[in-house]
Order: sequence, then C-alpha cells, then structure tokens
Amino acid sequence: MEITELDIKFLSGVGTKKAGVLEEELGIKTYEDMLYHIPYRYVDRSKIYPIASLTPDLPYVQIKAQIRNLRTVGVGKTMRMTAVAYDESGEVELVWFKGLKYLPSQIDNGKTYLIFGQPSIFNRKINIVHPEMDDFDKASQILVGFQSLYPTTEKMKKSFLNSKAINKIIHNIFGSLNGKIPETLPDWFLKKYNLLYLHESLYNIHFPTSPELLKQAIRRLKFEELFYIQLNILKMKYRRKTFFKGYVFEKVGDYFNNFYNLYLPFPLTNAQKRVIKEIRNDCGNGRQMNRLLQGDVGSGKTLVALMCMLLALDNGYQACIMAPTEILANQHFQSLSEQVRPLGINIALLTGSTKKKEREILHEQLQNGSIHIIVGTHALLEDVVAFKNLGLVVIDEQHRFGVAQRAKLWHKNTDLPPHILVMTATPIPRTLAMTLYGDLDVSVIDELPPGRKPITTLHTFEKDREKSFKFIAQELAKGRQAYIVYPLISESEKIDLRNLEMGYEMVNRYFLPLGYSIAMVHGKMKNVDKDAEMQRFVRNESQILVATTVIEVGVNVPNASVMLIESAERFGLSQLHQLRGRVGRGAEQSFCILMTSFKLSHESRQRIDTMTGTNDGFEIAEADLRLRGPGDIEGTQQSGLVCNLKVANLAKDGMLLNEASRIASEILESDPELKKEENSLFAVQLKRIFKTKLNWRFIS
Ligand code: ADP
Ligand code: MG
Repeated sequence: MEITELDIKFLSGVGTKKAGVLEEELGIKTYEDMLYHIPYRYVDRSKIYPIASLTPDLPYVQIKAQIRNLRTVGVGKTMRMTAVAYDESGEVELVWFKGLKYLPSQIDNGKTYLIFGQPSIFNRKINIVHPEMDDFDKASQILVGFQSLYPTTEKMKKSFLNSKAINKIIHNIFGSLNGKIPETLPDWFLKKYNLLYLHESLYNIHFPTSPELLKQAIRRLKFEELFYIQLNILKMKYRRKTFFKGYVFEKVGDYFNNFYNLYLPFPLTNAQKRVIKEIRNDCGNGRQMNRLLQGDVGSGKTLVALMCMLLALDNGYQACIMAPTEILANQHFQSLSEQVRPLGINIALLTGSTKKKEREILHEQLQNGSIHIIVGTHALLEDVVAFKNLGLVVIDEQHRFGVAQRAKLWHKNTDLPPHILVMTATPIPRTLAMTLYGDLDVSVIDELPPGRKPITTLHTFEKDREKSFKFIAQELAKGRQAYIVYPLISESEKIDLRNLEMGYEMVNRYFLPLGYSIAMVHGKMKNVDKDAEMQRFVRNESQILVATTVIEVGVNVPNASVMLIESAERFGLSQLHQLRGRVGRGAEQSFCILMTSFKLSHESRQRIDTMTGTNDGFEIAEADLRLRGPGDIEGTQQSGLVCNLKVANLAKDGMLLNEASRIASEILESDPELKKEENSLFAVQLKRIFKTKLNWRFIS
C-alpha cells in the first residue's frame, strides 16, 4: 500500500480515538498526511540556560533545575499549581492550569528536571506556564539535537496529542515504513538541482540530524511543492494557448469608435489604454482569452470592461457583465445604460429580483439576440439563461464567485467558449498571483484617474466617537456625504445586527437634529428595501449611509468623502482597503476614520498601522499575506491546494518560487505534454497531486 492509503488509525500508539481527533482537528488521515504535518519551530535542546538569564522575549528554552514547593493555589477557575524551579543562578516559578489531578504524582520536590518552556512575565516576575518536564537522569539523550514543535490544538492536547506525542507518532511511521518512502522527483532532477531525497528530507524535517541537513530538507520540500504547482499551472496555460480556440474579434467598429470619439466621459488613463489594447490583441488572435484584470479600487476598470464589450458588439457578439451583489449590478446597469444610450445599444438587467414575467421576456431576447449587453448577478448563471452568441463575459469582483459558478459561463455557448475577462480590485501579491493565476494572462491598471487626492486615514478610539461625529458633521456641512460602517460577521450575526441598529439610532440622535437624513443597508434586508435605501444615498437624499460590508464591493458615490469604520479591528486588511475605496472617488479630499476599542491585539495594531500608513493596494496585500498567510487572503479560499501549502510560504519564499517557476517552464518548453521518459515521474505526480482537486483555475 502507498503512504497515501495507509490509515494512521492502525499505527501503534494511535488508535481510533486519537485518529478521530487528528482528522477532526487537522484533517490528517493517512501516513502521508502525518508526514507532511511539518514542525512550525525547532528548538535547540543542546543548550541549557541558567535561570538568571531568562527573559520574556526568549523563545522556548531549556533549564536544568531542582523543584521545590509544588502546591495548589487559588480556587475554582483560578485554581492552579505552582512550583519553584531553581539552579545555582536563581529561581523561577512554574505554573500549571491544567492536569492538576495527575501532576503531583509526576513531579517530585527535590528532584532535578530538564524543564522546557517559554518564559513569560506575570506580576513583574518571570514564570513558565505549562513547562514540559523530563526527569533529568532519563532525559539525557534529549539533550542533544533539535526538538521539533508541531501545531496542536486544545482538543488535541486533551487527547494527549501534544507536540511530543506527534513527534513520536511520526517516529513510528518511519519505523513501520522501514525507509520506504517513494521518491517523487526524478533522479536526474535531484542531482541537477542539488536536492536531497524525499525520504531523507522528510526524516530530517522531523528529526534533524544537523542544522545543515535540516536546511536542505526544508529547501527540497518547499522547492518540490512550489515546483509542482508551477508545473501544473504553466502546463495548463500552455494547453489553453495551444488548443482553445476562441471567437475572433477582428474589427474595431462603430460602437467602439463612436463611443471613443464622441461619448467618452473623460480621457482614458494610459493604463486603461494599454489594457484595452492588450485585450484587443487577445480577442483577435483566434484563441480564447482568459484574462485577469487587476486594478486598485477606483482605477476605472468598468470603463475598460465597457469598451471591450463594445468590441464584442462590433463583431456581432453579445456581452455580459456579472457582479456579485444586486446593488452593484444595479449600479453597473444604470451607469452603463447612461453611457451607451446614444449608441442605440439594447442593454438589460437580470437579477434575483427580476419579476418572472420580465425574466421570461429577457430570456427570450437573449436567445434571439435582441439584447446586446446583459448586466446581472448570479441569476445569469441559471441554465435557462441562454444566448444567441455570447462573445465576451466580464466578471466583476471575481473573488466573490465560487468556482463552479464561474465555470458555468464557459458553457453558455455550444461551439466555442466566450472570451473571459475577470476583474478584481483585491490586489494580489506577485507570488500569490503566480501560483493562483499563473495560467491566466494578467493586465494591471496601475494608475488612478487624474485629480484624485490620496485618502487620509486616521485611527481613533471608541471613547472619542463624539469627536469623530463632529468631524463628519463638518464634512456634511460642506455638502458631502458619509458612510458609517459596522462589522457584520456571520457567527455573531445577532449581536452584530443589534450593534448596527444601536449604531443607527446613535447616528440618528446626533445627525437628525442637524437636519441630515440617514439611510441604512445591511445584508439581512430585503433586496428591494436595500436598493431603495441605497438609491436614496446615491441621489443624496440621505447624507449618511449606515451600513455593513454590503457596500464593500464596487459602490460608487463620488460625493461621499468620509467613511467611519466602527470596530475596525474586526475587519481584515483587504476588507478595510475595499471599504476605504468607497471614498476618495471625487475631487474632494476624503477621509477614512478607523475606530477601535482601546485594547488592540498586536496583529490588529499592525493592520491599523498598515492602513494609516499607505493607500497602495499592493502594499496592503503584501502586508496581509505576511500577517495572515495566503489561506486567509480574500479571494483565495477556493484555491485549495495552492494556498494550503504545507511547507512553503508565499510570503517568504518568493525567490524559491521564481526558481521553481523558471525550471518548470524550461521543462515544459522542451516537453509540453511531459511525454518524455525522463519526465514521466512529473506526469505521474501531477496526476496524483491534482487529481482530487477541482480544477478551479480552469474556470476563472
Ligand atoms: P473600479 O476600478 O474600482 O471598478 P470604477 O470603474 O468604478 O473603478 O471607476 C471609479 C470612478 O472613476 C468612476 O466614477 C469612473 O467614472 C471614474 N473614471 C474611470 N476612468 C476614468 C478616467 N480615465 N478619468 C477620470 N475618471 C475616471
Ligand atoms: Mg468596480
């Protein structure tokens, strides 16, 4: 049996119960899963610290000390056990909150232990909470080399699956496999790029035999992981470019030219021009376009999309643009209708709230081709929606759509797939873009329309709300409008909704007497009500919009120049950036006020500092990647494997990724289908790694 099939349940020392916990907590089922549960840190257990040298900023350390005064203190919830550990240099308190029942039988006063843990500070004294204790005499072999520390959860610890136990399990795996871990890279490749064998690498990553081997083991495993991702994605790119035919948009016709020459509301930025040219080339060369358009909020992606749709129309095709929310679809519909009105284009809107009667007419008109452009939400994806000849699909805020949803648009034609342009305002760090979208062609609008003033972002505390309100009132007095945003996060919906409603009342109490009208939108409202409120704000009948993140995506009200974000510490970086992008759309100086509680975690603090420090979406995306890791970055949740990297880290391993990518391209260049004998293992591995994963990027 392969290591991918061997169930850890049957491994000695594991059993059904622990296996259940491992699966539940970490998704570990097989030997292979377990082998790829990589330590997050190594501790050099060859060094013993004198107690007097302990400081709270040290990592995990090891001391050799005797114990005295082991006792229980406190009652109820605060009940804990403490002991004093001492050596020649000084003493330190040890504290346990758990395992109080069995501790006294395991620790003896007067005995010498090898004690291992992280010094921290409490009541201005150094202590170590939940240290690991080993009888010094028996522990002497631990004294050499590294100890691997593994990610564990509370539940795992309760089932005696601490770091040490995990390490032991992995040790047993190596014992039972008897050195037989099949190699996953060809021999010539290992030699050429100076890589360790897989078996050696996995062994050393868990049981480092020397710092040098540990380093090499990490490098091999990271490299392999990134290499296969790149090989897979670049192979698909190559195939798409070779085999996927597309409609040819050969001419630039009246729609495009008239719009460009007569009705363009403002001159295009250079970046917009460049991107339109890239798209034109793509749609004219006989292959299917699959292009990602990245551009920071407010960079003018919609206009680019419109001009490309006109190009489709000029060549006799229909076009559609799909948005993730009804608000956004409505807004696109309104602004697009206005812009194309003089051109005599038939444009329609299809959303969840389109009435059945009307819907049937739309379906009919899409099929007979009398509708040229359709704007819509997910409603466009329904099977009943069929086109005469859909030439171009634009997907706005692509990360809001699921994989399967996007796939549906590929099949709206019977002959060829339409050209696809996906747009995102969530800037993606370069390393992430390479792994996520390496097979797409990417265009970037890296320039904002002229005359925009950078948004000023401020941080305040809740206790100063009054001051912030006063500031908002000053802006309103200048004729501007304001957003006040509350978090609404699904797990705590009820509380959040109450907060929102209380906030709404508070805003009313303050601003109504000043003569302003206040609108409110949140995700729990009926769509018609939501739209009505939204429209009031768009028409400046309301000057303040109290809202949840439903406004995060795309909404455009250039007269709104202030945004106050309540409980800003509860939002992620990319969400804050998206929200902030709702202001700063007009010529006025705009402000974003991040309001938080007084106590902030280190991470929240960094998020707030990032936001006040820069307006650059790419910089923010990089910070987000560093702070949270790729798996949590918005828009990457569906990417499965790519973001659940087991060993490599996209925030840190950019160089290695470049190298892996370059080598993958080299191999594909001479053997695009991996048919050569020397590359056969690559093909096998690609199948194995990617077989179970939905091929999500095929459908972007
Ligand atoms: P996003 O890229 O975030 O979707 P939009 O397409 O909504 O941005 O554009 C933001 C605003 O900028 C809109 O009001 C739009 O009319 C305006 N805009 C777009 N292109 C230009 C341009 N070249 N010059 C001036 N304003 C522009
Ligand atoms: Mg937009």
